[in-house]
Amino acid sequence: MCFPPKMDATIINIFPMKVVTILLHVCYDIAMMEKRNYQKELDAVTGALTHRPRLMLQCCCGPCSSYVLEYLTAYFDVTALFYNPNIRPEAEYEKRLATMRQLLSSMPLAHPPALAEPGWRGEEFLAAARGLEKEPEGGARCTACFLLRLEYTARAAAEGGYDFFGTTLTVSPHKDAERINRIGFALAERYGVRWLPSDFKKRNGYLRSIQLSRQYGLYRQEYCGCGWPERE
Ligand code: SF4
Repeated sequence: MCFPPKMDATIINIFPMKVVTILLHVCYDIAMMEKRNYQKELDAVTGALTHRPRLMLQCCCGPCSSYVLEYLTAYFDVTALFYNPNIRPEAEYEKRLATMRQLLSSMPLAHPPALAEPGWRGEEFLAAARGLEKEPEGGARCTACFLLRLEYTARAAAEGGYDFFGTTLTVSPHKDAERINRIGFALAERYGVRWLPSDFKKRNGYLRSIQLSRQYGLYRQEYCGCGWPERE
């Protein structure tokens, strides 16, 4: 493995964001050869729970959140955090946010999550992605994008006294669960809140999210968020 997880946390603490992005991206490419099973790690966390902890969950969109909320609200008191400054243009952000609200008002969950939504903050993504515009989807720009969204989530969880923070991102077959989880663990060290490991696609989570999206008539977007470089 390129760096052990503790070293990831050190990198995040001492280097500027741009350098962190490049170092972590190189590291994750190598770490892909030694993949961990994050679904089993999530099972270990939920299997050891003795109460319902509070979870700050970064939700990328309504369709991905459908399966993940169905799953996690059985174990956690969830706040669904819609922090997605990567979504462009703003009208698309508003459309996806409306879909998120539609999901939350439609799903009959025993423990419905609260919604936290800081508004569209597109300039924060542009700053994080500067210089990485030509990267292909799945490349270093995505590492910066994950880091931006997960760091916001970790900070919000720490400030709110939450027990865990996590993300819906790993339900997508297009998103690298290894990279996302390693960023999560590194941020957990920095902010002092437990990272909830996941690989939600492992148990047909993606298929279930498509079923639920159809059931609730959810809008399913045709591109990830920024749309670079294809849309510009
Ligand atoms: S392709 Fe998706 S994950 Fe990658 S930078 Fe763009 S919005 Fe973020």
